Amino acid sequence: METLLVVIGVIVLLALVTGGLLVTRRRGAALPPAAPPAPRVAEQVLDETVAPPSEDLGTPLLEAPPVEVPEPTAGRLLRLRSRLSRSQSTLGKGLFALLARDVLDDATWEEVEDTLLSSDMGLAATTELVERLRTRVRVEGLRTPEELRAALREELVTVVGRDLDRTLRTAAHDGRPAVVMVVGVNGTGKTTTCGKLARVLVADGRSVVLGAADTFRAAAADQLETWGSRVGARTVRGPEGGDPASVAFDAVKEGVAEGVDTVLIDTAGRLHTKTGLMDELGKVKRVVEKHGPVDETLLVLDATTGQNGVVQARVFTEAVEVTGVVLTKLDGTAKGGIVVAVQRELGIPVKLVGLGEGPDDLAPFDAEQFVDALLGD
Ligand code: GDP
Repeated sequence: METLLVVIGVIVLLALVTGGLLVTRRRGAALPPAAPPAPRVAEQVLDETVAPPSEDLGTPLLEAPPVEVPEPTAGRLLRLRSRLSRSQSTLGKGLFALLARDVLDDATWEEVEDTLLSSDMGLAATTELVERLRTRVRVEGLRTPEELRAALREELVTVVGRDLDRTLRTAAHDGRPAVVMVVGVNGTGKTTTCGKLARVLVADGRSVVLGAADTFRAAAADQLETWGSRVGARTVRGPEGGDPASVAFDAVKEGVAEGVDTVLIDTAGRLHTKTGLMDELGKVKRVVEKHGPVDETLLVLDATTGQNGVVQARVFTEAVEVTGVVLTKLDGTAKGGIVVAVQRELGIPVKLVGLGEGPDDLAPFDAEQFVDALLGD
């Protein structure tokens, strides 16, 4: 009897458990799927247009993002001084430690020289600076760390170039926009610099048209267009592999038609053959000049490539008359002295410096602010 009751109990229990599971399964089947259905293409496009502007400058947005207001340029170098911290530790601290020694003998001055040389300042500028400093120490009887520090700062500012003309000619004149050509080896940050420069100009109240004359890389034109659209600047581009000079010409034409202040032309920087490059750049310039003279030709140089970069850049100075240097990636090197070497070797002032990958990490160059940033507090 008992056995029968146990068997019945087990059967009832099994029936209950199985029934429960079935109910649960059925309920589960009735529930909506956990993930919402994928949006249709049109919805995806809408979603992207309301998303915040992408930081990935290589991917063009499908619709114009809201126009941004770039940070003002005044004092940018001071704001970005911490980016030069790697240079600071090498130069500033090293030099001050040497000059703080009780005796400034030949050996110490030699060490001062070595420190400056290791910052990529170049031999001529280094020798000159140390000579002047030594003379001042002797003649003026400089002794205290404060006096030496002040003299070092002054001499550094002199060697970086206090009086060089670093103005960017970007204002419209004679009823037409100023034309700025940007040249340099691929990879130096040329296209990025064009984009950042458009922001610098917009921040300073100018209107801008961009010309994507690097027609060899479709990505370069896309990249430029994205930069431009962020600050409301139109980009003129041509077919991939098309004639760079004709794109540059059209960009200036568009700039004239729109009545903008500045037309900024990004050019190709392939160094396949020196003559090829020179011919091409020369042609771009000649064709653009059918509208009127080019006001500014900026050469973009990567600070991390040191003296080699300067040698490479000579090709450009032979092809077109370069009026200013943009030294990029100064945030990625401990060799801030390269500013001095570049100016001496090319005889062209550094007008802008790149201190990071952010959109507002391009600063107008100023000798005193730069030296202060190098020397640290
Ligand atoms: P292009 O081939 O000369 O046009 O070079 P791009 O403009 O495409 O830039 C090459 C790379 O350098 C990119 O990853 C940029 O973000 C980077 N770059 C440009 N300027 C700077 C800078 O001032 N600092 C740093 N750290 N990177 C930079």
